[in-house]
Amino acid sequence: MNIDNMILQTPYLTLDEEFYNLTKSDPLEEPYLISFNPNAAKLINLDEESATDPLLVSLLNGTFIPKGASPFAMCYAGHQFGHYNPWLGDGRANNLGTLNGWNLQTKGSGETLYSRSADGRAAIRSSIREYLMSESMFHLGIATTRALGIIGSKTKIIRNTVENAAVVMRMSTSWVRFGTFEYFYYRREYDKLHSLAEYVIEESYPHLQSDEDRLLKMFCEVVDRTATLIAQWQGIGFNHGVMNTDNMSIAGLTIDYGPFAMMDDFNFGYICNCSDTVGRYSYAEQPNVAYWNLTMLAKALSPIISKDKMDKKLEEYGTSLYPNAYIDVMCKKIGLTQKLDSDAQLVEDLIVALHDAFVDYTLFFRTLSHYDGNREDLYDIAMNPIVIDKWLALYDKRLVFEEFTHEQRSSQMLQENPKYVLKNHMIQEAIVLAEDGDFSRVEQLLYLAAHPYDELPEFEHFAGDTPEEYKNIGLSCSS
Ligand code: AMP
Ligand code: MG
Repeated sequence: MNIDNMILQTPYLTLDEEFYNLTKSDPLEEPYLISFNPNAAKLINLDEESATDPLLVSLLNGTFIPKGASPFAMCYAGHQFGHYNPWLGDGRANNLGTLNGWNLQTKGSGETLYSRSADGRAAIRSSIREYLMSESMFHLGIATTRALGIIGSKTKIIRNTVENAAVVMRMSTSWVRFGTFEYFYYRREYDKLHSLAEYVIEESYPHLQSDEDRLLKMFCEVVDRTATLIAQWQGIGFNHGVMNTDNMSIAGLTIDYGPFAMMDDFNFGYICNCSDTVGRYSYAEQPNVAYWNLTMLAKALSPIISKDKMDKKLEEYGTSLYPNAYIDVMCKKIGLTQKLDSDAQLVEDLIVALHDAFVDYTLFFRTLSHYDGNREDLYDIAMNPIVIDKWLALYDKRLVFEEFTHEQRSSQMLQENPKYVLKNHMIQEAIVLAEDGDFSRVEQLLYLAAHPYDELPEFEHFAGDTPEEYKNIGLSCSS
């Protein structure tokens, strides 16, 4: 299918008018293509040749509206850093409609009813960050939104400096947020809460549609998916940075990539968002804050679902769902196939050791994947190898209970522990080049994002330790 033949549907517009606001396009000046993502194009059956179709830039810029599309911004509220904000919504995103189960959205496309005092635009740097990282997360096996492409322009925007505006076309199986439910709860519009829940079930939990208890079951699955998602974030060393309830997906996806980071040297308390002075959204707090967000969702759903039953499910999050999901993720990373009660302690000991070792999180697990009893390579990557040594002694003892040979374990671990993740300094270099008109690094990183577990000799330099001056630096929310 080519872009001209796309036919979209707009199921969200069947909801009450209060759920959205129709938008007018406000195109960028002198738009040009920065990158096109053929893997995302496949999801909506779009030809690879669309990369060179002039309509692609028009589609992203809002000057070509596909058949059936009807641009709109979605309304939502949310708790931001713990404080309720009753009026958020897509302040800079236009939803075009749905194709093959994917909701297409341009981010940075101009002001909407929900822009408040902001300009409705997005900087090239934040658009490239979202574009690349969402692709990386997908190939790391983590539920996420995707992105079809990205355009730059001559339109100026003011952030800390004057920058050029961009648009990224995001795709998601759902854009509904915990905060979408909060909006109707705090306005006491419980009938709309109900229709939103039915909409979400149809969109993201269709197997529940004919179930009498579908509302409660939907909530339970949101809790399950969130527990799994956060366990995977922790496992891969991802810090989201802005886990406000409006950035929490009802479908359990990673959404709204802002000042995120893949951890460099492991630091349990790492805070990637430098506006987050108290570390509410630090790496360490992610499982807890996800729980808090789920309790806010339960509160919002309480007029239509039994609070007691939701509370029971919430209790499971902390006692079993999250801890079990996390231990499963980590045991896979260290190549354990048998389950022993003592494994939780072994994982805890590992986290303490990594924290004390000053060792690159990704590099540690990739190197461990080759571990055959010889500890030299692991000593070499840690500033404090003594703690690594102590942990390896425990690990060696534990491996005795495994049936796998070293080779079997190694080949399995190499599929769990990526060689290539997109660290912020790598993305930043691609941004600097792109701002200068050279998009080759963006293309390279898009390729790396899609091949996290491969050995790619030509990209070996992207698999090393982060240069000291770039390690675990914070990012600003400005985007
Ligand atoms: P975020 O935390 O980046 O997901 O954004 C929080 C809220 O601010 C959302 O409602 C966004 O749509 C809105 N927002 C962020 N940046 C802008 C902008 N430049 N113009 C309009 N709205 C924005
Ligand atoms: Mg957001």
